[in-house]
Amino acid sequence: MFTDFSSSIMLISLIAGALACFATFGFVASLYKANPDKYIKLLSVYTLLVGLGLFSIHFMNMRAFNHTYMNELSYFYLLIALGFSCSVAYAVLHTANKLTLPIYSLIISGLQAGFSGYGIFIFFTKAMLAGQFEILLLPSILAISIAVGVGILSIITFYWLKSYDGAHRYSVRAFFSILISTGILSTHLAFNTCLSAVSAYESDGSILNSSFVTMLFAMVLIFVFLTAFIVVVFYDRLNPNIVKRINFKNTTSVTNPLDSFDPLTKLPNRNALNQHLQLAAKRCDRLGDSMALAYIDLDHFKPVNDSFGHHVGDLLLIEVAERFNSAIRNCDYIARAGGDEFVAILGEIDAHESIVAVVQRVIDAVKEPFFIEGHLIEISCSVGVAIYPRDGNLEKLKVSADAAMYKAKENGRNQFRFYDAEIEQASDEMQKIRKELLDALEKHEFTLYFQPKIISKTQAPAGAEALLRWRHPSKGLLTPIYFIEAAERFGFIDKINNWVLIEACKTIHDADKNGIQLNLSVNLSRQQFRNAQLVDHIKSIMEEYHVAPQSLIFEISETHAIHNQSQFKKLLSKFKSAHLKVSIDDFGLHPFSLTYLQNLEVSEVKLDKSFTSGVAKYGSALAIVDAVVKLAHALNLTVVAEGVESDDQREALITTGCDQLQGYFFSKPVPAEQLFAIYYKLHANFNDTGEFSISDYLDLTPSSEEV
Ligand code: C2E
Ligand code: CA
Ligand code: CA
Repeated sequence: MFTDFSSSIMLISLIAGALACFATFGFVASLYKANPDKYIKLLSVYTLLVGLGLFSIHFMNMRAFNHTYMNELSYFYLLIALGFSCSVAYAVLHTANKLTLPIYSLIISGLQAGFSGYGIFIFFTKAMLAGQFEILLLPSILAISIAVGVGILSIITFYWLKSYDGAHRYSVRAFFSILISTGILSTHLAFNTCLSAVSAYESDGSILNSSFVTMLFAMVLIFVFLTAFIVVVFYDRLNPNIVKRINFKNTTSVTNPLDSFDPLTKLPNRNALNQHLQLAAKRCDRLGDSMALAYIDLDHFKPVNDSFGHHVGDLLLIEVAERFNSAIRNCDYIARAGGDEFVAILGEIDAHESIVAVVQRVIDAVKEPFFIEGHLIEISCSVGVAIYPRDGNLEKLKVSADAAMYKAKENGRNQFRFYDAEIEQASDEMQKIRKELLDALEKHEFTLYFQPKIISKTQAPAGAEALLRWRHPSKGLLTPIYFIEAAERFGFIDKINNWVLIEACKTIHDADKNGIQLNLSVNLSRQQFRNAQLVDHIKSIMEEYHVAPQSLIFEISETHAIHNQSQFKKLLSKFKSAHLKVSIDDFGLHPFSLTYLQNLEVSEVKLDKSFTSGVAKYGSALAIVDAVVKLAHALNLTVVAEGVESDDQREALITTGCDQLQGYFFSKPVPAEQLFAIYYKLHANFNDTGEFSISDYLDLTPSSEEV
């Protein structure tokens, strides 16, 4: 089919192609490790190098297959062909370096590579071939499709192997280099079938080799290429040893592989992590190096499990692990420490910045939404970093990284923090509170206090707000500001909130038995917001204690509502369909809340204390309250003013038409028995005088609330 001359050039071209691919693996790996500021520069250089490589391979291929040349090359066309070579190189290098490889981006880059490949061929032909030729449409379409296919497979290969650092790194790269080079050659064979001569240079009408045979040959090569590729990928997925080599970076000396990796994510587990950490620390001690320990915790993973089920949670963890694994460098190590916690050990840390780049990549890796079993899932992660040996021995290091991670969470999640002295102090304090909170739950140290809400016009009791208190064994009665944040951080808030709800229902039930029809407001915390089962859960507790829906109203802070608008709207509609009432707490702190209010299906707004404190002093505050009350009334909402501390404030608020009042002026929060006593007194006096008296609200024992 080919002359000896052409087949030997073909072999050389195949070898040259394989060498070029091998070098390209190196380029991709180096780009992958590059700092963001150097990335563009390196990408340009590598694009040019790989472009030149491709250009030379095509040059050889042309020589191998074509027998008629012009003596004079057209340099202009050659330059255009070089441009197309660089375009192919760019498509491969840039796409292979992306953090994730969504299908559309893969297809676009594959198309770019395929069409540019065709461009190289056409312009080479124009530059080199004497005589005229015609482009045949059908073979061209077929050839371009083959080129796109080879492009896509090559991109996947480079993408997939860029962070592979197993024991047989070079053999794996060499193997795939040969495959890709075969793909390039096959593409060229297919291109050869696209032209037909119109001048007298070739007598058989075809300017190149017989198109049918060439095409057949091309197809066979492509088939071999594809099959080999698929078999290897498939094998890789099935064989745990290879999976281990592909996924694990720097997996040194793990005694028993089965004890050392997590069956779900295929990452090393806590055992392997500890072993690796010990070895890495020894290496640091010996060489005087440093390493960083990064604790990575997914934000809001639990609600994913709660809302979509554990199966989806598991699939999410697998994808997260893959993304983390490709975000770290070859010299790093990542393990799953359990649940939604991952730990990375970062080596070769010459400067703070080099860790920052990797850690930021880890955070960015989960920023793009996940699409799992038809659910679009958005999560983030918080990372705490401690440095060995600077931040202490190995034991201390773990605690420090953990403390830094909590600080990152506290600062609003989706970020990283380095361990420092300030965190150290805070972490000691937090550990203490954590233990105390655990005890508090076990020893039933929580209790509910109730602060009456009053109907402005008649002074009749409208109900009460349930407020959480902690009877601390040594510090006395604590209000939530001292412990709610810690409870959220340590994951105790669910239990506490649950307890509050049950206790509130019990109180309504008790009140009922005592002849009091009591309405209670219960505060929801920001965590509860994300729980898709919240409403069902509330309903089941209410049914258990025979509490009617109108006896409870749920307060949600405006700040949380505004920060999670879409979630909040969904939650609201669930509350509505369950006939449960919702109140927006601390209302008015955000400038756009008035317009926002229009679209919400809530029953009540609770003006923030800051408005109440201003109404008696400043005309402006009164005017704002006045406007809010009017708008709320237009929307059929009840307005409650909280933090009423003086009679002046009460009077000013009444002029605005504010429906209900709550504050120390009437009563501080009191225990349930005292609340009942207030109700009895109010009703007894009402029966005598026909009026409700403010003085009856004042709690019977003024020192009932101390902090
Ligand atoms: P909040 O919902 O805005 O509750 C009103 C707070 O204002 C209460 O503080 C109450 O004691 C206080 N207060 C009432 N009247 C006056 C007044 O006239 N002047 C002043 N200066 N303050 C007044 P507390 O009980 O310390 O609660 C603080 C926050 O803790 C609450 O703010 C609420 O967001 C949260 N919280 C309270 N109980 C619970 C609960 O059971 N679960 C959850 N998740 N959060 C709760
Ligand atoms: Ca409240
Ligand atoms: Ca409030």
